[in-house]
Amino acid sequence: MNYLPMFFDLTRQRVLIVGGGEVALRKVSLLERTGALITVVAPEIAPEFTERAAAGKLKVVLREFSPEDLDGVRLVIVATSRRAVNRWIASLSEARNIPVNVVDDREASRFIVPAIIDRDPVLVAVSTGGTSPVLARRLRERLEALIPARIGELASWLRALREATRRKLRDTGERRRFFEAVVDGPAAQRFIEGDHQGAQRIAQQLLATTSIAPRAAGAVTLVGAGPGDPELLTLKALRALQDADVILHDRLAPAAVLDLARRDAARICVGKAAGNIGSTQQEINALLIEHANQGKRVVRLKGGDPFVFGRGGEELQALAAAGINFSVVPGITAATGCAAYAGIPLTHRDYAHSVSFVTGHAQGDGKEPGTEPDWRALAMPGATAVFYMGHARLDHIVEKLLEHGAPATRPAGIIAQGTTANQRVITATLATIRDASADAILESPALLIVGEVVALHSALAWFGTASAVDLSRTA
Ligand code: SAH
Repeated sequence: MNYLPMFFDLTRQRVLIVGGGEVALRKVSLLERTGALITVVAPEIAPEFTERAAAGKLKVVLREFSPEDLDGVRLVIVATSRRAVNRWIASLSEARNIPVNVVDDREASRFIVPAIIDRDPVLVAVSTGGTSPVLARRLRERLEALIPARIGELASWLRALREATRRKLRDTGERRRFFEAVVDGPAAQRFIEGDHQGAQRIAQQLLATTSIAPRAAGAVTLVGAGPGDPELLTLKALRALQDADVILHDRLAPAAVLDLARRDAARICVGKAAGNIGSTQQEINALLIEHANQGKRVVRLKGGDPFVFGRGGEELQALAAAGINFSVVPGITAATGCAAYAGIPLTHRDYAHSVSFVTGHAQGDGKEPGTEPDWRALAMPGATAVFYMGHARLDHIVEKLLEHGAPATRPAGIIAQGTTANQRVITATLATIRDASADAILESPALLIVGEVVALHSALAWFGTASAVDLSRTA
């Protein structure tokens, strides 16, 4: 390790920047945030410098660098376009023991400036030792996605909490346990989700009980994994996966999404596969409660969105009854995901003014007795109907829609394994969809969409096609 990472307090410290171009300006923008006293020396400067000087943010000296510019300076950044000049200034700075950075010249630099993630007061710095700024930036981007946007606010809240609990928590062990419970548990999680009141309430509860219950309370996060493409995951879902001790997932949860979880997190499949009844809902509820009661962070990962035919509501009711903390991360549901990837807008001012998500199961499977959808409404002109789990019940759905007045010419489409590399889309009409789907080899899961908007697929399909791209031009 050639470099010692550190954070330099530059408040009211004199910093010299030599150079008046783009690069120097970027450094100025960074330094301004530290409260440093900035002087820019250059014979010519970009107009932004003049504006900032007028606003009193920095001092501009319009001439070539001269050695006495280094007098009383804490830090030097050199960014002229002339390499020899840069090196000369660097050697002068070295001789006077002033830390110097020459932009894009690691050898001439005493210190280098890392790529940073600024969530004040939290600051993350990434360095590749000056080997590759591009790599440093990419790393930073990945970290950006992992570090909660509100981490800075969280840090400030913890500082305030520290003040507020000083009197109550005198013992250092007790204080440490309390803050571990806050940071590792649902209080910090709530805060990061933006629920400050909930976080404060949980912290108050912890405060009342820390000395008795030293361990962090467990919690369950219900997470929507999206319909298939792992990149349709939200940043929140990613974070929940990486924080989880245990993940209970459905069969529909994409494998690539599970791979994003912490390596040592326990993964339990509770899904139903064909020929395998899977865990019952009661068993799943019991597992969630059991793990949370062991103080673990449990993620319940579901395909699509947990509240759209995902039985998420039932699980939360069980958790609420058991007094377990929970939260929900929504996901992209199959209807919106598949429609987007099939180029079928679910609403369109010319064709559809409403969209319904309907379960194709309904009655007959013994689970939801007597719940036939409102077929008349679904058959109306200007309505788009999306049937989940509809493939097996295709005949019934088509018959009911026709019976309730939908024209046989109404467009209908089936999307199988939507948003994945195996996505298949077939489009037809209510009259022909059964034959069309019998001819195609469609693997589940599949979704049925009925409505005028389905006809737009032929013009708007983009995924898995090269329709809109003229390949001869890019060759
Ligand atoms: N909670 C999930 C739905 C679970 S029900 C969600 O919000 O998406 C399961 C049904 O969703 C499947 O039978 C199928 O109709 C639909 N489905 C899920 N993923 C799908 C996909 N990738 N392509 C097509 N349909 C899908």
